[in-house]
Amino acid sequence: MANKFRVFATCDIGPSLNILRERGYQLEVYPDPKAPPKSLILEKVRSGMDGLITTLRDQIDAEVFEAGKGSLKVVAQLAVGFDNINRDDANKHKVPFTHTADVLTEATAEFAFFMLGTLARKMWPAEHLTRDNQWGFWHPYLPFLGDEVTGKTIAIIGTGRIGLAMIKKCAGFDMNILCYDPAYQNLEYITAVQEVMDLRHARGMQKEKTSIKYVSFAESLKLADFVSVHVPLLREGESDTPTFHLFNERTLRMMKPTAFLVNTSRGPVVDESALARALKENGIAGAALDVYEKEPLPADSPLRDPAIADRCRLMPHFASAAKITRLSPDPNKGMAGRCVQGLIDVLEKNYGGDVKKMPYVVNKEAF
Ligand code: NAD
Repeated sequence: MANKFRVFATCDIGPSLNILRERGYQLEVYPDPKAPPKSLILEKVRSGMDGLITTLRDQIDAEVFEAGKGSLKVVAQLAVGFDNINRDDANKHKVPFTHTADVLTEATAEFAFFMLGTLARKMWPAEHLTRDNQWGFWHPYLPFLGDEVTGKTIAIIGTGRIGLAMIKKCAGFDMNILCYDPAYQNLEYITAVQEVMDLRHARGMQKEKTSIKYVSFAESLKLADFVSVHVPLLREGESDTPTFHLFNERTLRMMKPTAFLVNTSRGPVVDESALARALKENGIAGAALDVYEKEPLPADSPLRDPAIADRCRLMPHFASAAKITRLSPDPNKGMAGRCVQGLIDVLEKNYGGDVKKMPYVVNKEAF
């Protein structure tokens, strides 16, 4: 069957695009690795595209849906987060948009854990010692020591898909776990984790007993040695419990001065100026960030201050950047495969054409 659907991909998402070519789609791919200007997206949509493949770099709002009136049938986003897509505008124009939840859950959680370990055990300054030929002698505590992860307490902020996966990784490191989520408490999951913790202790696989429980936000910050953030970006008015600047001057002060913050969620969840200050004034022990208020991180960001470089790890929005996770054409394994399948579902009217039944569509409420 030759499909004559016209699709514009704002980015080359890899070999999975061949699935569309093989199905006869007329596919245009923006060739530059940088994001296209909004004006080009509007021009393409105006020319009668049936579908758009987008990334978090593209602002998809009323202007885009207006330009696609009568032709644009789907926006397929290569990410689980979709704060760049205006849901109300999509709903108003009755355009379904899809995302790639689940397939990046484990990759993102493991990266968050690796960032946590890198930060706590000071791997970056330690490697610098070696590379810069400053490793003059072995000494019991000089020039510095790291903090163990094993046996410590972590607060998981947001117990959705990635938060729960992070819990699993932390339980494997014999950590105590405090969970906070105002909207979704998966008690069945944490009961199962507690059973595993108890069994590991009973079988002699971990020395100390460990525990997991839901607590308030304040309590989680007060008691945790590590805080790992797994929330969506929700601005004022988008939720009763918005996450914009959830970590600010006041809440950072609620953390222990010996605690570490890890953020792999979205940049604006953390007030970066407040964080840089907290690090500089030793309000907290360290932070590892994968996401920023403005991406790429500006040259003059206070987070680049050399005075805090030893306790501030900065990654380039890289948590889901693993080969299978990003590129696999299998929709059960790869973001690209899932993104393409989401687009096909809508355009080819799979599931009897019922958008509400399509697994990767986000804004089902509009249909
Ligand atoms: P999810 O929707 O499954 O989970 C988010 C959880 O946060 C939900 O349980 C929700 O109830 C909770 N939440 C909402 N408001 C909260 C608040 N104020 N305080 C605490 N919890 C709150 O989403 P997910 O699949 O786990 O992904 C989480 C986020 O991670 C995504 O929205 C995305 O922004 C980000 N992400 C980043 C990367 C990366 O490369 N760094 C990769 C994947 C996802």
